[in-house]
Amino acid sequence: MNIHEYQAKQLLKQHGVAVPSGEPCKTVAEAKAAAEKIFAAGHTLAVIKSQIHAGGRGKGTFKHGFKGGVKLAKSVDEAVNFAENMLGQTLVTVQTGPEGRVVQTILVAAAEKILKEFYLAVLLDRANSRPLIMASTEGGVDIEEVAAHTPEKIIKEWVDPAVGIQPFQARKIASGLGLKGDAFNGAVKLIMGVYKTWWESDASMVEINPLAVVETPSGKEAIICVDAKIGLDDNALYRHADIQAMRDLAEESPLEIEASKYALNYIKLDGSIACLVNGAGLAMSTMDIIQHFGGMPANFLDVGGGASKDQVSAAFKIILSDPNVKAIFVNIFGGIMDCNVIATGIVEAVRETGLKLPLVVRLEGNNVAAGKATLAASGLTIISGDTMADAAKKVVAAVAA
Ligand code: GDP
Ligand code: MG
Repeated sequence: MNIHEYQAKQLLKQHGVAVPSGEPCKTVAEAKAAAEKIFAAGHTLAVIKSQIHAGGRGKGTFKHGFKGGVKLAKSVDEAVNFAENMLGQTLVTVQTGPEGRVVQTILVAAAEKILKEFYLAVLLDRANSRPLIMASTEGGVDIEEVAAHTPEKIIKEWVDPAVGIQPFQARKIASGLGLKGDAFNGAVKLIMGVYKTWWESDASMVEINPLAVVETPSGKEAIICVDAKIGLDDNALYRHADIQAMRDLAEESPLEIEASKYALNYIKLDGSIACLVNGAGLAMSTMDIIQHFGGMPANFLDVGGGASKDQVSAAFKIILSDPNVKAIFVNIFGGIMDCNVIATGIVEAVRETGLKLPLVVRLEGNNVAAGKATLAASGLTIISGDTMADAAKKVVAAVAA
């Protein structure tokens, strides 16, 4: 699960990390009130930031032509104008794809006086089985570019998960970034806090880009998270009711939301062959074999090893509600799964939806005879495949026809 920048900043703040104060606003009136407070407090610049689950907002463009999903406003009027151009509008960035995302919330904050931008992230390094902290002086830019062209500019520090981050590691990173004085001390505390946020939230990634050295109103240097992105491990969400409450369904695909209600692992893809499979490994090889024979899968779907008839039926309806789907491929190997449960669920769903598309079924394993009998007795037109390859060829041919 992903969360918005303003929510990521709330989590960071709870762990003692310096973040700018700001207000999430859902209406122009709220944005106006927030901007009035900022300018009344003596600030001369406010920042208005589109909240979507994608980066590259600063350089993004709205579909109605307005440029920039992150804007600096010099007055309340300007802030209101930006809010009007962002709220309810579709922002396209390098990360959203051409369809873009509708901005439903904007973050309004006093702008920071940025002196220098850095990059900081905590993630899991699977190759080394350890949390990894990455930092770079090249902040505010695309970190993949830095990694590709100037990898020496990325500082890496691995943490022993058993003991957690040690202060010397945070000092090593801060000094590697060339920080001195107040900014150095601030960075040490901040890096410890960012790591703690990552660990305690069961996050898969925390990314601060830019992390910035700013000039405070009193003319001192301080370090603060100007942007923040947090990705969370769905399998650990049950431990975090507060984070679960941050879920924004508007940012997720409606079909994936429906699938999560039935505990189905569904991911929508762009092809035309819908797949209903049990087991993640079989689901992946099903997608491979479809491509091998020249087709394109419309989704990844693992109904799991112990799916009920209702789950199968729900899964079937979900894959069918994708308008790109031209044929369906059911590929089941019943190890624990009872093939007849799958067959019953399919027959029920086909009846309810009045399926008109070609349906290719390959059933194998536990109670397969009863499953095949259920399908045969249903009177539905089903193309059966003897092997996985045979079924894959048939489904690809059905789409081509
Ligand atoms: P992103 O484009 O989605 O990564 O959004 P960011 O939050 O990183 O904002 C993009 C850029 O806007 C940053 O790299 C900053 O240069 C600028 N920016 C964001 N917030 C502020 C701020 O408070 N003050 C100033 N001066 N610039 C800001
Ligand atoms: Mg950013």
